[in-house]
Amino acid sequence: MSSQVHEFQAEARQLLDLVVHSIYSNKDSFLRELISNASDALDKLRLETLRDKELVADTTDLHVRLTPAAEPRTLTVSDNGIGMSRDEVIELIGTVAKSGTAQLRQALSEAGDASSSEELIGQFGIGFYSVFMVADRVSMVTRKAGESVGTRWESTGDGTYTIDDVADAPQGTSITLSLKPVDVENAVHDYADPQVLRGLVKRYSDFIAWPIRMTETVS
Ligand code: ADP
Ligand code: MG
Repeated sequence: MSSQVHEFQAEARQLLDLVVHSIYSNKDSFLRELISNASDALDKLRLETLRDKELVADTTDLHVRLTPAAEPRTLTVSDNGIGMSRDEVIELIGTVAKSGTAQLRQALSEAGDASSSEELIGQFGIGFYSVFMVADRVSMVTRKAGESVGTRWESTGDGTYTIDDVADAPQGTSITLSLKPVDVENAVHDYADPQVLRGLVKRYSDFIAWPIRMTETVS
């Protein structure tokens, strides 16, 4: 199928704006959200292969991988978990609209402090959108276990996204962030720096049951 440009619904756009600009007190949170999604995807794959003996999937080395790169600064967070079908990718975007901006606004105003605001993210299923706090462009390649064709989803978080088929996508999900410039005053740290990433993983994702590996390119 050829490339399609889709537009977020108006409500989704507002919600995206809320997530990016006012919910998280700490921009570093995006990494915890991505790793937690990757971990969920690995859990789901393991469960699904136990339930469905016919499912053709490689479960020999389930893990999360962080791949930072310089020039241009990017960070890729990948997993070899369950992956998503094309429809699920579109649904993932739809989740935002379904959650309801008005409901979230209301819940946020009642939440009071930052930590209870962050708890709401889980309830509303919008953690993924936190990537746009630190990235000005996000590219996701995913292939669902058992399916042959993958999907690429790309967005600049400005209200539109593109979606394409990918013939040779590995099983699982790979999310590449084109990182915003480091802005320490606004708590945007250098997420292309392995040292920074190690610190964040230790602090926020220590409880994750799956291995978290890092690929470091030698420059
Ligand atoms: P939540 O995790 O609270 O459901 P998110 O916004 O973090 O909300 O993610 C939305 C949905 O997108 C997830 O429930 C999951 O179905 C899908 N998803 C996100 N990341 C991945 C991933 N790495 N692998 C498979 N599915 C994913
Ligand atoms: Mg999540």
